[in-house]
Amino acid sequence: MQFLTSSLLELITQTSTNLPPDVRAAMAKAAPMETPGTQAGQALEIIAGNVDTAYEGEAAICQDTGMPTFYVHMPPGVSQLVIRKAACEAVAEATRRGKLRPNSVDSLTGKNSGNNLGEETPIFHFEQWEENEIEVKLILKGGGCENTNAQYSVPCELRSLGRADRNLEGVRKCILHAVWQAQGQGCAPGAIGVCIGSDRAHGYALAKTQLLRTLDDMNPNPELANLEARIMEEANRIGVGPMGFGGRVSLIGCKIAAANRLPASFFVSVAYDCWAFRRLGVRLDPASGAITRWLYRDPDRPVEKLAKTEGFPLTGREIVLTTPVSEAAVRALKVGDVVLINGEMYTGRDSVHAYLMKNPPPVDLHGAIIYHCGPVMLKEGEQWFTKAAGPTTSIREEPYQADVIARYGLRGVIGKGGMGAKTLAGMKESGAVYLHAIGGAAQFYAQAVEKVLGVHLLEFGVPEAMWHLQVKNFLTIVTMDAHGNSLHAEVEKATAEALAQL
Ligand code: SF4
Repeated sequence: MQFLTSSLLELITQTSTNLPPDVRAAMAKAAPMETPGTQAGQALEIIAGNVDTAYEGEAAICQDTGMPTFYVHMPPGVSQLVIRKAACEAVAEATRRGKLRPNSVDSLTGKNSGNNLGEETPIFHFEQWEENEIEVKLILKGGGCENTNAQYSVPCELRSLGRADRNLEGVRKCILHAVWQAQGQGCAPGAIGVCIGSDRAHGYALAKTQLLRTLDDMNPNPELANLEARIMEEANRIGVGPMGFGGRVSLIGCKIAAANRLPASFFVSVAYDCWAFRRLGVRLDPASGAITRWLYRDPDRPVEKLAKTEGFPLTGREIVLTTPVSEAAVRALKVGDVVLINGEMYTGRDSVHAYLMKNPPPVDLHGAIIYHCGPVMLKEGEQWFTKAAGPTTSIREEPYQADVIARYGLRGVIGKGGMGAKTLAGMKESGAVYLHAIGGAAQFYAQAVEKVLGVHLLEFGVPEAMWHLQVKNFLTIVTMDAHGNSLHAEVEKATAEALAQL
């Protein structure tokens, strides 16, 4: 199979850089549902432009290219070992080319393998079938949305919804609770795969395989088809909205399967995927490994642009912040302000925050802004270049953030999904703000990076290192200010009330 590795490399590249048509169609349908000029409307505009830029430049749609998960069907006689080896080679090469971020971390040592290969990564699901060709489907699902997956053992009590019993009404409550609980942390609007029944481990696996269905298909089981339609309608009434900013589009797809269960168990498993729903597939010739056709695509239909306008239109009302930032400038900001950042900033996420709790920073952070971001970076000669640089989910830094702000004089934190009460109180006391970037908009933000000025703590791996960036017109929205206001707390409260009304 001389073409097998190159075919799989093409599958990985296309999956990471070109959103499938059904997801594009769902996002195109979502866009007019939000009012232009609102935070939700702006988020969808930026996302649309980002999808187009990624396609045009064959660059990662989101910097978190996730856990590569392959679903392989093959005729008898085809070797799993050969496919596994070729897929691993393709994954390593895609990482070297910057189509995948190095994402495989040893869970005991914390060391990043650097090539997306390691113990149990990538993930393979092999199955034989009676057709003559090989079929390979690939899902790239990032950590932010993976962390918002949820599993319920019913009966259970759910906030705002009361008791979920062992029937379809109970299942409906669990699914709605999962969408509500995700808020913006999984980069809403999302799509969910659900499994009713099975055991804990297989229930989650089956929920994820529902994400292999196209968003516009019809469930062959009428009862489940009805439930899917009802969830879509109700979830979009809760008001979580794009990025959790509040709005009418929280969900772009809901796909549900049912599996038999043990008499004693009743699980509802929900796999949440973000708007950057990267899933593609190919059919391969079993003799040569060449691609015979693409799945999820109509070869007669060209890729359509998602954005309605070129670039993101600025209104002139944006506030420009130049780093280092003064306390007065930060205290003047309020929730809802759109801020353009110029100057220097540093990335810092899980490893950096853990490090800063025990060690002084490698640079002076007074007046600085830290960006919760694990970028895709490539080195050409001695210079690093930013290939993808959207925000990561900030809530993971909640235990550390207020201390890091107070200790080192930070004035701003950029991330997505918002942070909690401890950080909000710390910002009020120290004089700092939370600036929300648009989750998944990795190309939009990579374009705002003028230069990589340096890197510290690279021993943590590329995504976890502290990158020193020079940025221009880096667009963010204040969602937590230094006066104790949090858009995230407001939306969570309002949506909990709306959930109770369903
Ligand atoms: S769009 Fe958001 S949730 Fe999805 S992979 Fe990117 S950062 Fe993670």
